[in-house]
Amino acid sequence: MHDFRADLHCHTTCSDGTVIPELLVKQAHALGLNALSITDHDSIDAYQTAMPVAQELKMPLLPGIELSTMHKEESIHILAYGFSLDNSDIHHFCLKQQQKRLIRVKAILQRLAKEGMPLDEEEVLSFSSKHSIGRPHIAMAMIKKGYICSIEEAFKYIGSKGSCYVSGVYPSVQEALEFIHKANAFAILAHPQLIKRRKIIQDLLEMPFDGLEGYYARFPRDQNEKWLAVALKKNWLVTGGSDFHGEVKAHSVLGSSWTNEETFNLLFKRFKSNSELQRSDQ
Ligand code: AMP
Ligand code: ZN
Ligand code: FE
Ligand code: FE
Repeated sequence: MHDFRADLHCHTTCSDGTVIPELLVKQAHALGLNALSITDHDSIDAYQTAMPVAQELKMPLLPGIELSTMHKEESIHILAYGFSLDNSDIHHFCLKQQQKRLIRVKAILQRLAKEGMPLDEEEVLSFSSKHSIGRPHIAMAMIKKGYICSIEEAFKYIGSKGSCYVSGVYPSVQEALEFIHKANAFAILAHPQLIKRRKIIQDLLEMPFDGLEGYYARFPRDQNEKWLAVALKKNWLVTGGSDFHGEVKAHSVLGSSWTNEETFNLLFKRFKSNSELQRSDQ
């Protein structure tokens, strides 16, 4: 029997993952994970179908989300945990972000057409379950059409340095932090290991995050260590998650990073108390 493991960073078909929510919960349970959070990009739709399965399997499922934000033209992802699933602000926010995502995808498609790689919107939408569309869905449609052979190759065009790149219109980090805290949830800086610009890191470390994702995917211990030290110094929480996406990102293996029991319990307790409060308000 190993130590308690809660994978708190996973995607489903409700954003750009390839596994449906119900199956993800079952896979996590079969792997022997003790708890899970689904953190789709700008969507909490997965919980409608995932929560009943988790309850049946008696697997604690912590509501979470991965918000796309911007800081100085850099894309920053923030994980939020512990909000109530009945929080209408969160539902409203997700709807707004999802509309913006669709507009961005249309703009990227225009650029791809100019580069000689036309795609119909419907072809791209067929890869998404119409909840929270993103660039990986475009990448999959490009592969199907035979324009390129891999997701990585697609990002040479649609990645931030590519000729068909269009930046997302996302809230600032500060706005997202205010929003998360208004929902009485925890704000965690996602995969800080991936942020390269020193100035951006400096700025982020001055902001009121509650924690950072110190254990990410299959990152070696030495790459995480710097961030574990930062969290310790700032008295921030440390979470861990795999960033599982299914086939579309096959190297991110479910359960490859995890959050410890103490931190998980703190986050889960907040979810329970927010849910109680929400219920008594209704
Ligand atoms: P979007 O939310 O539309 O901006 O797309 C961002 C998602 O695309 C990320 O969460 C990753 O899953 C994926 N992604 C970003 N860069 C790459 C890359 N170079 N290769 C493959 N997938 C990527
Ligand atoms: Zn993703
Ligand atoms: Fe991310
Ligand atoms: Fe992610």
